[in-house]
Amino acid sequence: MSRLLVIGCGGVAQVAIQKCAQNDKIFTELCIASRTVSKCEELKKKIESSGKSSTRITTAKVDADNYGELKELIDSYKPDAVLNVALPYQDLTIMDACLECGVDYIDTANYEPEDTDDPKWRSIYEKRCKDLGFSAYFDYSWQWAYKEKFEKKGITGLLGTGFDPGVTSVFCAYAKKHYFDEIKTIDILDCNGGDHGYPFATNFNPEINLREVSAPGSYMENGKWIEVPAMSIKREYDFDGVGMKDMYLLHHEEIEALGKNMPEVKRIRFFMTFGQSYLTHMKCLENVGMLSTAPVIHNGVEIVPIQFLKTLLPDPASLGPRTVGKTNIGCIFTGIKDGKERSIYIYNICDHQECYKELGSQAISYTTGVPAMIGTALVINKKWSKPGVFTTDEFDPDPYMDMLNEYGLPWVVKENPVLIP
Ligand code: NDP
Repeated sequence: MSRLLVIGCGGVAQVAIQKCAQNDKIFTELCIASRTVSKCEELKKKIESSGKSSTRITTAKVDADNYGELKELIDSYKPDAVLNVALPYQDLTIMDACLECGVDYIDTANYEPEDTDDPKWRSIYEKRCKDLGFSAYFDYSWQWAYKEKFEKKGITGLLGTGFDPGVTSVFCAYAKKHYFDEIKTIDILDCNGGDHGYPFATNFNPEINLREVSAPGSYMENGKWIEVPAMSIKREYDFDGVGMKDMYLLHHEEIEALGKNMPEVKRIRFFMTFGQSYLTHMKCLENVGMLSTAPVIHNGVEIVPIQFLKTLLPDPASLGPRTVGKTNIGCIFTGIKDGKERSIYIYNICDHQECYKELGSQAISYTTGVPAMIGTALVINKKWSKPGVFTTDEFDPDPYMDMLNEYGLPWVVKENPVLIP
């Protein structure tokens, strides 16, 4: 018996909530709360009319930027945990409300501010850039700062339980537990071989996605960040289930957490595949200022360019019916086992159309929403429960790996994969 409050009802949330409803022995009661309550009601109707789940669903309207509204909702619903699948902008207000109410907190992406020109945030950010050596707008420092407060309150904060971050860090913990005495290098590879037929669209929230991929790339070597210009390191790789793709080194949040929790690993990198058309569109939009988060006045009205762009682009949640092809996301490890060199590749292949048939979503929302449900289930059933704030590499990976197989994201371990130069 449990009560879960889910905040957000976009692409990822819709998968996470439908997967919670499939797991109705754990998720007996669930409240879907978001800014646009009609989306929550539509999803509730869809789940109830399928007649396949006994989860009791209610809905609520909430502005998750508003601490008072959140606290009131948590106080009245009294959930065992809150799953935040809104946007990273809301992470800290939701964590504050959970802390005040003594409720466990789970999310899929680390904090970043909506307004990157806010002088208070900017001065902390600029110091971090100098001290740590990477300049992405998102980082874990804001949420790790809650560790002691969560410990004192006796509640669990599980950060970043999507696919990457999330499953990729569980793959790292699993490799460390079962395959290596010492891991030397980790390469995380995110390949989307899907085609939605539009000249340009993003597979998850456009604002967050475009900020992430237009940031300088960086990786960790011998405990230090090395930053390079965006898209300046390119490799080719032949992905199982997808084929040959170009991929580019990006900064990504799990590198930060793995660098802290597995300091013995000598090099950690992250690569994502992009087609030429995506990169050309992105460069052009960036060059004309459409990726800017700074407000401008247009015909007497204040608009934020990247938010206006979001209005023009297809809603990622609408890509499901038209996306064909597969994703392949995983990690290549090199290291030592029993005195011998070893290398393995752990990955999942997911088919866009299979996801659409099952839940009406494309594979990017699916591969994020399923792990969001799994992380939440493990916090709620106390298998992953300890006071403080943690990433997914800090718990026993085995129950999570079992649930990936059970809930639609089966994985394989391949020995001696082709390595990335
Ligand atoms: P969407 O834009 O599709 O959905 C966001 C949802 O949050 C919408 O329902 C939106 O409401 C709601 N929301 C936004 N602001 C507020 C607010 N102030 N108060 C209440 N609700 C709000 O995003 P996605 O589903 O694509 O992404 C969700 C999260 O998943 C993001 O944090 C993203 O970074 C993360 N993600 C993580 C991945 C991983 O592998 N770890 C991969 C992909 C995404 P409305 O309907 O009114 O717009």
